[in-house]
Amino acid sequence: MVKKEMKKNVYSFYLSLCPDKEHFIRKAFAKEKVYIHCAALTSENMHTDTEILGVFVDSKLDNKMLDAMPNLKLIVTLSVGFDHIDLEYAKKKKITVCNIPNYGENTVAEHALALLLSIAREIPDSVNRVRSGIFSYEELRGFDLLGKTVGVVGTGRIGTYFIKLLQGFGVNILAYDPFPRKELMSEYNFKYVKLEKLLHESDIISLHVPLTKDTKHLINKKTLSQMKKGVVIINSSRGGIVDGKALLAGLEKGKVFAAGLDVLEGEEYLKHPQDIHDAKEQKRREEFIDTIHHLTSHPQIIVTPHNAFNSNESIERMFQLGVDTIKRFNQKKALKNKLV
Ligand code: NAD
Repeated sequence: MVKKEMKKNVYSFYLSLCPDKEHFIRKAFAKEKVYIHCAALTSENMHTDTEILGVFVDSKLDNKMLDAMPNLKLIVTLSVGFDHIDLEYAKKKKITVCNIPNYGENTVAEHALALLLSIAREIPDSVNRVRSGIFSYEELRGFDLLGKTVGVVGTGRIGTYFIKLLQGFGVNILAYDPFPRKELMSEYNFKYVKLEKLLHESDIISLHVPLTKDTKHLINKKTLSQMKKGVVIINSSRGGIVDGKALLAGLEKGKVFAAGLDVLEGEEYLKHPQDIHDAKEQKRREEFIDTIHHLTSHPQIIVTPHNAFNSNESIERMFQLGVDTIKRFNQKKALKNKLV
């Protein structure tokens, strides 16, 4: 008797940020039809027969893209953030969307702390100094964290882990979140306060919020004016949370001492200028690029290339959780990480 062949699913993965994981994906879905690209999704490399799609944050999934894949059933974004996907439109089209919310809260929080310590102890300039053959600490005096007030905006997974990491530094911690988890206050010795108070009293402000309509440009001319003179700002969440032009003005006026940024508004235009064919998009790129250039070249700003998530351990967890999500979806099991 001839065995009836099971229908294969069609998978497309866009592994721009982790091309080294191609083998892992091929092995996990060895019996399926799998397309793998080591780039972000674009209209040029898209497969219209895709049913299950795996992407990173640099693959923009707007209504045009979603319409172009009529068989799409599931999108798994290998990230915590999902502001690159039009969730409402996906829901309308009955496409399930999942993120990977818990692959690396420690990883991102450790990076935020690394940015802060690098600023506090002048690490980038110190290293450059020695590399240039000058072994002198002149003008490289830093500051202690001990005794400072750290304001944490957003106390979800990453913000809470950041607070946990700060426990050994002898800092005073203030936090703001519209959905406070008050039970954490006594465990980690911090206080929830209103945003205005946090801005007014913090020596250091670290941002751990998603990019939404409410958080876009949360750090702007007005909120900067409410901050202490000489504040240090750390952003490891999304570039759009900080108004770059206002930050540069704050640095010019001496209101801001320094900033550590893992993310930049418009960073997608830095990575893929060749993918921009449309004039409107090209104009948007120009708007961002000028500010990005000023931010990345400013002596009091350190920028890392959206790298906070990127550790050996977090990537292992991310891919394993991504594959588990797809398998659970195929088995019609409940998905805790379903966004729509
Ligand atoms: P989470 O959902 O666990 O926590 C987000 C918290 O922000 C929640 O407690 C929420 O109530 C709070 N919040 C929402 N709006 C707010 C506002 N207006 N003011 C203050 N708080 C607000 O998310 P998470 O896992 O902690 O991740 C936070 C963000 O970090 C993600 O959304 C993502 O954008 C970013 N991220 C960046 C990297 C990186 O590599 N740089 C990696 C992972 C995540």
